[in-house]
Amino acid sequence: MRDKTKHTIPKELEDCYDAASARFAGLLNHLQEAYDTLARAGKDKDPLFWELHDSYKDIIDTLHGVMAMLSKFAPYAVCGMCQGREEVNCALCRNHRIISIVRWHSVPKELRDMREKKGKL
Ligand SMILES: [Zn+2]
Repeated sequence: MRDKTKHTIPKELEDCYDAASARFAGLLNHLQEAYDTLARAGKDKDPLFWELHDSYKDIIDTLHGVMAMLSKFAPYAVCGMCQGREEVNCALCRNHRIISIVRWHSVPKELRDMREKKGKL
């Protein structure tokens, strides 16, 4: 099993990576469903949602922003500093071993490049 950088996930982290990924995907699906429902209700001027007609655009824009923000914090990679090793006390991942794309970009570029190059081999 590999992370989004094509790095092999250590066996002991696979369940955690899987569970967290599924949790984020579920949350995003719920938000997408709310987004679709409200967008349709606003567009069709659904009388059940009449109170929202004047502000549905703001609401769906906000939901879109929440989804975009949340997806940045979904599991992305095995930590680029500790490489997911439990014996290392890691300041970057705070010993969670799996990091988001946001945190991945705070891994020093040389380490990211090394991992990404290795993933292509
Ligand atoms: Zn780490």
